[in-house]
Amino acid sequence: MMAARFYEPGVIRLEQVEIPEISSGELLVRNHAVLTCGTDLKMYLRGHRLAKPPLIIGHEFAGTIERVGKDVKGFEVGMNVVSANSAPCMSCYYCRVGQHNLCEHLDEVLIGFSSPGAYAEYVRLPSRIVSQNTYRIPEGLSFEEAAFLEPLACVVHGGELANIGPSDLLLVIGAGPIGLLHVQLAKAYGAGTVVVADTSSDRLRVAGELGADRTVDASKDLVREVRGLSENRGADVVIEAVGKPETWELAVQTTRKGGTTVLFGGCPSGSMVSIDTEAVHYGELTLRGAFHHAPRDVYRALRLISSHQVNVAPLITHRMPLSDVERALHLMQDGKAIKVALSP
Ligand SMILES: [Zn+2]
Ligand SMILES: [Zn+2]
Repeated sequence: MMAARFYEPGVIRLEQVEIPEISSGELLVRNHAVLTCGTDLKMYLRGHRLAKPPLIIGHEFAGTIERVGKDVKGFEVGMNVVSANSAPCMSCYYCRVGQHNLCEHLDEVLIGFSSPGAYAEYVRLPSRIVSQNTYRIPEGLSFEEAAFLEPLACVVHGGELANIGPSDLLLVIGAGPIGLLHVQLAKAYGAGTVVVADTSSDRLRVAGELGADRTVDASKDLVREVRGLSENRGADVVIEAVGKPETWELAVQTTRKGGTTVLFGGCPSGSMVSIDTEAVHYGELTLRGAFHHAPRDVYRALRLISSHQVNVAPLITHRMPLSDVERALHLMQDGKAIKVALSP
């Protein structure tokens, strides 16, 4: 089969490789749509601690079952399916206390990182993922839309931590794919006013089309802008969806006293931020880190996509064959694409 394999930072090669073998609890899926993700771009530019090159990357995908392991129940050849990129072990400390997204063994079975990814004609679904995080694609949902399952599951998890109340003023910093999913989820949760900040006018336009009540050019003084919208208090909830130390700091600075800051974007490892202790202490701020997803988030994400409460299709700005994967990643890098749908 054709596959795009990562060799070293800046080097991805399109190569013929063997179709994966599957064991008794696994599925082989023929990919119909694979989406680019910011994490793929990071892998392409810097590599990843879990990646042992040459590695097929890509972890947001949907397709049709080609082969079924003999012990797999509930799935058959020809069924259209989508899955998350991981699944918890269900036996470590974190799984036992219900924090499945923090599972100590998540890394062991991670499609596109420790397990071969989906930038290929076929992908093997490991048994843990088959039994916990694989779903038949509901009628009326395209492969491209279904492939949003994994990023939306992460957003559902972050949205839960945000504890959004009706009539809340919510600020989303960053109008990339994750920020745009947060905007729609916040509206579905009943947030009163959703404000989105970004430096790209193109992205802000899309944010407006997807339901943001107000968009703000992030190169302006965001603290002042948000205070101006909130009788000088700040936002009830702020979601950081950029992943830079300076936007983490900005997220804390734009949160009102007693409000919640969700730090969703992952900064480069080793990053440090400085936070005003008085603002956190006297202002009783709740700072929440948000990472990955649990099976319940994956399930809820599928419901949100299939009911179109979250409209994912407008986030796909480009479509191209898998052979153009490097062009797709460069479009992401230059901020020209929100998501690129690749067809293997
Ligand atoms: Zn992703
Ligand atoms: Zn676990």
